[in-house]
Amino acid sequence: MNGGLPTTNSLDNIIQNSETTCPHCGLPLKTIRIEVFGVTREVPCYGSCGCEESQLQYQSSPKPSDRIRRYAQAGIPSRYRILEEPTKTTTEHVRSIAAGKNVYIHGVNGDGKTALACAIAKGLLDEGVRVRYQSLAGLRQGWFDSEDSKLSCRVPVLVLDDIGKDISDFWGQCLFYLIDERYTAELPTIFTSNFSIGELGKQLATKCERTLAQGIISRLSENTEIVQLEEVDYRAMVG
Ligand SMILES: [Zn+2]
Repeated sequence: MNGGLPTTNSLDNIIQNSETTCPHCGLPLKTIRIEVFGVTREVPCYGSCGCEESQLQYQSSPKPSDRIRRYAQAGIPSRYRILEEPTKTTTEHVRSIAAGKNVYIHGVNGDGKTALACAIAKGLLDEGVRVRYQSLAGLRQGWFDSEDSKLSCRVPVLVLDDIGKDISDFWGQCLFYLIDERYTAELPTIFTSNFSIGELGKQLATKCERTLAQGIISRLSENTEIVQLEEVDYRAMVG
């Protein structure tokens, strides 16, 4: 695990995907220098062109405290509640979700997947979409509380973090029920997993009934945008 450094990674992602010119007037944006974990970075400042459109958009966006409160209510873990302006990547995913697509994020880097899933969730929350974040562990805890599991089945957008972890036959059945309910209601879900969908299928097949595993995989594969995250070498970044 790369426990202490997700902020560095998210920040680099944000900077790399940030607009360098104003989307309204096309003028280059000014940058500020900030230091995180001893590394100085140049970050473009949205609205620094001073044009009227960008100032108007800036003023009409919700207050930072309201945004953070909304993230907390949605269950976003505290370490991922930082305010981020949407990057090109998150904006694209937010659009896919709005069009009813699922997003399946996989790769070996645990923090990167959750950070991306939460960034998409925050982009949706900022647009007023109801989102619920749920780790698989949280889903297990709340499963026998019918209100809690109903909420996970019916919320407009669900983030289901870390699927494929500790799957048993019973949890396979719960997962199938949840995925099937959301699939039938055409409600998008953002999944993260260490496994690709194919690998997850193999894992499920060893623990659950074959038809159940196939049911999960076929619903997961349909109308889903797959995002594979590359492993990030943190040592090279901070070294
Ligand atoms: Zn401008």
